[in-house]
Order: sequence, then C-alpha cells, then structure tokens
Amino acid sequence: MSSETLELLKKEEEILWVNPRFKEAKLANAESVYTMADIEEVEARFQRFAPFIQKVFPETKEQNGILESPITQIEQMAQWLEGEYGLNLPGKMYVKRDDLLAVSGTVKSRGAIYEVLKHAEELALKEGLLKSKNENYEIFATEEFTSFFSNYNLAVGTTGNLGISVGAMGRAFGFQVTVHMSEEAKAWKKNFLRERGVDVIEYKSNFTEAVNAGREASKQDPKSYFVDDEHSVDLFLGYTVGGYRMKKQLMDQGITVDADHPLFVYLPCGIGGSPSGITFGLKHAFGDHVHCFFAEPTKMPSMVAGLESQKFDEISVDDLSLGGLTVADGLAVPRTSALVAKLMNNYFSGGYTLKDDSFQSLLTKLYEKENIFLEPAAVAGLAGPFKLLGSKAGQAYLVEHQLQNKLENASHIAWGTGGSMVPEADRKDFIEEGQGKSLAVKEK
Ligand SMILES: *Cc1c(COP(=O)(O)O)cnc(C)c1O
Repeated sequence: MSSETLELLKKEEEILWVNPRFKEAKLANAESVYTMADIEEVEARFQRFAPFIQKVFPETKEQNGILESPITQIEQMAQWLEGEYGLNLPGKMYVKRDDLLAVSGTVKSRGAIYEVLKHAEELALKEGLLKSKNENYEIFATEEFTSFFSNYNLAVGTTGNLGISVGAMGRAFGFQVTVHMSEEAKAWKKNFLRERGVDVIEYKSNFTEAVNAGREASKQDPKSYFVDDEHSVDLFLGYTVGGYRMKKQLMDQGITVDADHPLFVYLPCGIGGSPSGITFGLKHAFGDHVHCFFAEPTKMPSMVAGLESQKFDEISVDDLSLGGLTVADGLAVPRTSALVAKLMNNYFSGGYTLKDDSFQSLLTKLYEKENIFLEPAAVAGLAGPFKLLGSKAGQAYLVEHQLQNKLENASHIAWGTGGSMVPEADRKDFIEEGQGKSLAVKEK
C-alpha cells in the first residue's frame, strides 16, 4: 500500500487532499441509503423533546429548547491568516459557534444528545410509560419517568466530549451512565462527569481500545445501551440537522448561497461522525453549491488515510507509523468509522492535516483577534481556506468546479466545534502555550 498522499502523511507533513471520488450531490444522494426523510425525522424528534430540554436545561429557554448556535464573521482573524499564509482571501470568513451549544459546549450536543433522546423515547414507548409521540414531552422530567430510567444504563467510549454529552443528557433523564475514557481525556472532563454521578472508567490506552472495552462491558448487561461512536447510525443522523438548518440561518443573516455564491465549510474530523453528518445536512440544503473539507491532526489523519487507501476503518494511523498524543484531543482517533467513511467517499470534497503547532497558534490568535476561545480540536477549520487556495491540489479543485471567478462572492465557514466548557485555568494554559507557536507555512 503506497501512494504519494500516504507517503506525505507518514512524514507528518501538512497536506491538502482532494477526494477523487467526489460526486455531484444528485448522484451522491441517489446512492445513499439515508435521505432527506431521515433529516426530517431527526428535526421532528428534537422538536418533540424541546419542552423537556427547556425544563431540565433552563439555559435553553431563550431558544425554546432547540440546541443551535450562531455564525460570526471573523474579519480580524482572516486578515491575520492572510498575512501569515501570504495569500489574499477573497470572500468572507465566518466561524460557526458550536462552542456555544447548550448542554455540552461542543458539536456533540447534536449527535450524542439525539441518540440519547431517541433511546429514551423508544424505551418509554415500549414500556407503555409514554402513550404516544403526541404527548407533551415535559413529562420526561417527572419523577415517574426519571425513576423508570434509573433502572437503565447508558455507556460510551470516548476521548472526552462524547462522554460529556451522553453524561449530561443521560443523567437529566435519570439514566445511570458509564463513560470509558481514553488517555487523552482531560482531567476536568472526568471531574465534570463524576460531579454529575457518572461512573468514569479510565484507560491507559487510546480511543479505539476505550471504545472496545466499553462495548464489551455494556454487552454483559441487557439493561445497558452502548452509544457506539464507530457504528451508530443515530449518532451520525443527529448531526445532520446542524448542516441542514444552515439553509434558514444563512438566509436570515443575508448570506447568499447559489451557483454564483459558493459556500465552503471546513470541519474538524475525529472519527468522522460529526463532519459527515453535518456535510450530509449541508448537501441536502445547498446541493453542489457547498464544498465540504475536513481537517485532522498530522498525527491522526485517519479519515484521509481511510479514503485515500479505500480501506476505510481497516487502516489505522499505526499502519503509517503515526499516532501518539496530539494537542487536538477531540480529534485523537486512530481509525475512522466505516459507516461514515464509505458514505463520505461520495460527499466530501477533500481533507487536510495540521501540525500541533498550527492548532496551538490558531487557538491563541483566534482568542487575541476575535476574543473567541475554542478548544484545540475546534480550531482546525480556520486554516481551511488557505489550505485550499495555497495548494496545487486545491487550485485544481477550484478550476475543475469553475469556482475561480466566483471567489469574491464566496463564504468560508470554519466549524468551531467546541470550547465553552473548558475551565478558566485550562484556557489560560492553552492561550499561553500557543503564544510561541506558528503556522506551518511552506516557503514560496
Ligand atoms: C468530537 C469532536 C470533533 C470531531 O467529531 P467526530 O465525530 O469524532 O469526527 C471535533 N471537535 C470537537 C471539539 C469534538 O469534541
């Protein structure tokens, strides 16, 4: 197994990879087993649970119990990036503030929470506690429901943030929750969960092993339900509304997306569930007018490796002699998910990798220029427009899709996937650590 891309990955270089199997949205949709009807089902379920969510998480009242985040233009940051990369960026640059999502402060508030809602609804219907889907779901907050759910367990294996979401929402229903944490997981995440009565089990090993251990333990207990980051369809589908809702959100903000106004979205990628779900939603909202790129650490390029080699989940970063700890803890996943990787074979425009120094520098500069704090994994999208414009492969993509003359009208959105829950002391450390760091910029 060798290719130019895989060789570059092995050298831990920052690359931009264009997906040779990318298809027109119409063709990709025709081949997909998931459809618009799935996105609508997810939206309807989030709506049904909105009265419950408002009740147990009062901070969501203003948004009527719907978990959604704003989009902010970042002119100062864009200017700084132009200077660092030595490139002019036509069009406008924004960040999608999933760091502000209620309940977990990360993108996981969509997928993970959706899966917990669906499981709770199914259990309550099956046991006759909930009579129909037309009831007011505020009843999920009653003693009758929470004591019912306290007989059941939710389990999950995670680098941290998936556990936060499953833990926070699971406990709100009354479930017992067990979280299997890999070595990257930050101490504050374990503390947060333990304070909420979550059973946290720690592993001195990577994500894949924590997930495997969690799955096995859960299997032993018929009343335990495992939220499976590697195989769950519901987790993937939960994320899709994040992309689809952009149709109305961008329109409301006067941001046009059409044949003459392309939209570029750059998504941090760990196992691939969140960027894939969001991309699927975006493609259903904007068709061929949206171009989705995903971003990974040079130490853990599991999705690029999986798609380039066409081995999907059967190639691990270990096979490329990569791995080890990365500062982008939320993206520290050695092997991708086959479910989403195979689907994204048709939908993703491409991907790129970033070194730890780049993550750290982006984090600190975003804070200095825009007063926005994102956690390390969440800044990966910010380099996207410059990776695209500044590489041969990216330029070829723009030519192939006849985008060069439309760039003045383009919108670039970096998906900011998390950060608001990071404690003050950790924030300070992250910001200081990035001060001496710089972006990996190729000599011209
Ligand atoms: C989980 C996570 C991601 C990546 O999501 P995947 O579904 O693992 O690809 C990105 N950023 C943050 C902050 C995350 O927690």
